[in-house]
Amino acid sequence: MARIVMKFGGTSVADLDRIRNVAKRVKTEADTGNEVAVVVSAMAGVTNRLVGYCQSLSPLFDAREYDSVVATGEQVTSGLTAIALQELGQDARSWQGWQIAVETNGEHGKARIESIDGEELIERMKQGQVPVVAGFQGVGPDNRVTTLGRGGSDTSAVALAAALKADRCDIYTDVDGIYTTDPRIVPNARKLSKITYEEMLELASVGAKVLQTRSVELAMKERVRVQVLSSFADTPGTMVVDEEEVVEKEIVAGIAYSRDEAKITVRRVPDHPGIAAAVFVPLSDANINVDMIVQNVAADGTTDMTFTVGKTDMARALQVLDQAKPEIGFAEITSDQNVAKISVVGVGMRSHAGVAGTMFKTLAARGINIQAITTSEIKVSVLVGAEYTELAVRALHTAYGLDG
Ligand code: ADP
Ligand code: ASP
Ligand code: MG
Repeated sequence: MARIVMKFGGTSVADLDRIRNVAKRVKTEADTGNEVAVVVSAMAGVTNRLVGYCQSLSPLFDAREYDSVVATGEQVTSGLTAIALQELGQDARSWQGWQIAVETNGEHGKARIESIDGEELIERMKQGQVPVVAGFQGVGPDNRVTTLGRGGSDTSAVALAAALKADRCDIYTDVDGIYTTDPRIVPNARKLSKITYEEMLELASVGAKVLQTRSVELAMKERVRVQVLSSFADTPGTMVVDEEEVVEKEIVAGIAYSRDEAKITVRRVPDHPGIAAAVFVPLSDANINVDMIVQNVAADGTTDMTFTVGKTDMARALQVLDQAKPEIGFAEITSDQNVAKISVVGVGMRSHAGVAGTMFKTLAARGINIQAITTSEIKVSVLVGAEYTELAVRALHTAYGLDG
């Protein structure tokens, strides 16, 4: 007998037929004698619609009220899934974040889970009941509902698996595993049977939305065995594992892209000590994350600084910089939302040179201009025009020998 957390994403619970399908899968697992807890997302498209409502009423909406609106999607699917299970003769009960409780910090809209009390759920699972937990939500120190950031149900599932000391956390989605890149833009992407926590963490953090970054971080820390698999097919999925468990290490494990960033250039800033602080401290004070940074070589005592921020933060970043203009002393600011970040990731990069070189040559051969570059031990990222996203990802996928 095993204890398993099964998480179903938005497309897996998109309508009543799919919720019935989810209930069947859960019952099959419970019928084999396993203890099962379920985590569900909102129906596909629902969270986007709810976010849109908030934005339409107020561009700078109150984050507490945003949370109380967007958390409702998961409340609906947890109740419906419990009903569908009961209809199959399976004892089941829905749970909202505050009921368990899933305690988070107070950062509304992107809260982090601090603790989960698993006692009551474990008791009920032992008696054969299936808890159906609303993903994406928790309760903050202000006793108000919080949400965990987009894609946060993955994190709910991993955190619950850790709290319940589950043997496995199965993430059911609309693809049958983790691929060398997004299979929706590269049809001959290859499914991986295993991927290391570290590589998945890096891929998620640079845009592979198949798992929320925080969920991988948590799985790595709490040693949760995570599997990604399809809720529509019966094929084995991809296991996220320790590095020692991967026998054949590829130099490049995967390629990811993100269209979520915008580029800002601050032109002709005086090139003297403290200038980077003058630009970036006000941004961090305003809670704006900066990702890629490029500073040009100074000519005539001034220089240009280019960096990226999340698209949703761009308007605020421009406002903050404008207010700091007297301290910074720039000539002008330009911005561009029409960019994409393309990243190659692999633990093999630690011991193999030439990965970045291959990337630059491949993009050059397609006439794709690189606007910024960042690297880490196991990753190289470049910023290119958004219109080149598919072309760049496909060309790199072939260049690194990843085509299936
Ligand atoms: P869910 O609603 O089930 O959480 P998501 O849309 O959040 O599903 O994540 C699944 C999607 O992630 C897939 O449909 C796919 O387009 C995308 N994706 C991006 N990169 C990858 C990858 N390397 N492997 C698999 N899927 C990926
Ligand atoms: N429904 C939430 C979202 O769309 C959480 C999730 O699906 O993981 O972001
Ligand atoms: Mg998701």
